[in-house]
Amino acid sequence: MPSLTFLGATGTVTGSKYLLEASGERLLIDCGLFQGRKELRLRNWSPLPVDPAGIHWVVLTHAHLDHTGYIPRLVKEGFHGRVWASPATVDLSSLTLPDSGHLQEEDARYANKKGFSKHKPALPLYTHDEAVRSLELFSVADGKEPLELSSHFKLRFIRAGHILGARMVEVTVTEAGKSVKVLFTGDIGRFPQLIIREPAVPDAVDYLVCESTYGDRLHPTDDFHARMAGIVESTAGRGGSVIIPSFAIGRTQELLYLFRKLISQNQMHELPIHVDSPMAIDATDLYRKHHEDHNLEADEFESEGHRLFAQPNVHFDRSVEASKALNECRYPTVIISASGMATGGRVLHHLVRCLPDHHNTILFVGFQAPGTRGHSIQTGAETVKIHGQQVPVRAHVETIGNLSAHADYSEITRWLAKFPAPPRKTFLTHGEPHAAEALQQRIVEKLQWTVAVPSYLDKIALG
Ligand SMILES: [Zn+2]
Repeated sequence: MPSLTFLGATGTVTGSKYLLEASGERLLIDCGLFQGRKELRLRNWSPLPVDPAGIHWVVLTHAHLDHTGYIPRLVKEGFHGRVWASPATVDLSSLTLPDSGHLQEEDARYANKKGFSKHKPALPLYTHDEAVRSLELFSVADGKEPLELSSHFKLRFIRAGHILGARMVEVTVTEAGKSVKVLFTGDIGRFPQLIIREPAVPDAVDYLVCESTYGDRLHPTDDFHARMAGIVESTAGRGGSVIIPSFAIGRTQELLYLFRKLISQNQMHELPIHVDSPMAIDATDLYRKHHEDHNLEADEFESEGHRLFAQPNVHFDRSVEASKALNECRYPTVIISASGMATGGRVLHHLVRCLPDHHNTILFVGFQAPGTRGHSIQTGAETVKIHGQQVPVRAHVETIGNLSAHADYSEITRWLAKFPAPPRKTFLTHGEPHAAEALQQRIVEKLQWTVAVPSYLDKIALG
């Protein structure tokens, strides 16, 4: 009988990995890094509970590292099959995986310098070059036709919203003449979302593996467009600048889109907007290239063509010199820079310069995990340590929480209600325990479905 094993994203939002087995063949759905708590991160270093050389294929839902970041390690440990993903996910992974390898190397170097690693010398999980080599195994699945991997596994890709290239993966598993359909949602986008088209209506399936990141929360519904314009206008009125620590993929492009809209509607002055992050600039190019995923009106896109994100007031600062030149800027400016939680990257230089001055605003537009510098600033720290020095926080601090790329519980439940028939069983993953359990309760109450919250390494027979 075919089986499904949960190798990650149980009791946590990271490490997504689901193993399907049938007739001695193995398909891994997503191959994510564990992030956050130490006991989770240690799993990246333990041998995978299944021999990587015995996995025949990997299929990816989208390019975020908690769904793809383990691939170079899987390859290092012996995997030599194909990695299937949508066109945009393949392109985005060619940015994110080498960057992840680079960060792994930097972490190892830092641990060696500080001498706090048990392992001497501390080694990276994988290097930049190993990540680049792993990309050779990637193949594009354009999603137009079902993809038949073998007589036991057939894949269909369904639009998931969330970020560019994100797809749900429907797998038809056939063994001994019997077939079952399993749908893996990956991360589910919003209804609607600023740029990316909303998740597609699903077909009936036998089993559903569904995310639950916001299983216990609703997103704010206030008019954040007006609030965004208000924050920028009042900061500029004081003669200050707005610094936005932002994720490079998705959030940066949504901000550019939103600012363009606010300016064209005369809600905001045409201030200079700087995108100071090479990865955000590369990702913006990919948003231009892959308009199959856009939510934008066709003629709005056609009429503006490649100028979609490139308005006259928007500057893309790829070089280090251009980034440094921003330090000399004496007029109100908006600077969008990574990393999104101010844990590293070019945004730190802007924070050192702008945090001590009460004219400026630091604007958070994404989730700030406890323990990060972004979280400290957001929750009222008087000083934060950056590059070894204590920097006073005198700038205004604002948060706009409406730009999440994950459906909240009401959006997920509304999407589930569109299934033509209930799945035989639904598994909730990719959520903290309280979020997954809250969503389980809601689905049972609202839809009377059979819902389980699996644990790490649970193996289910798909009868
Ligand atoms: Zn994601």
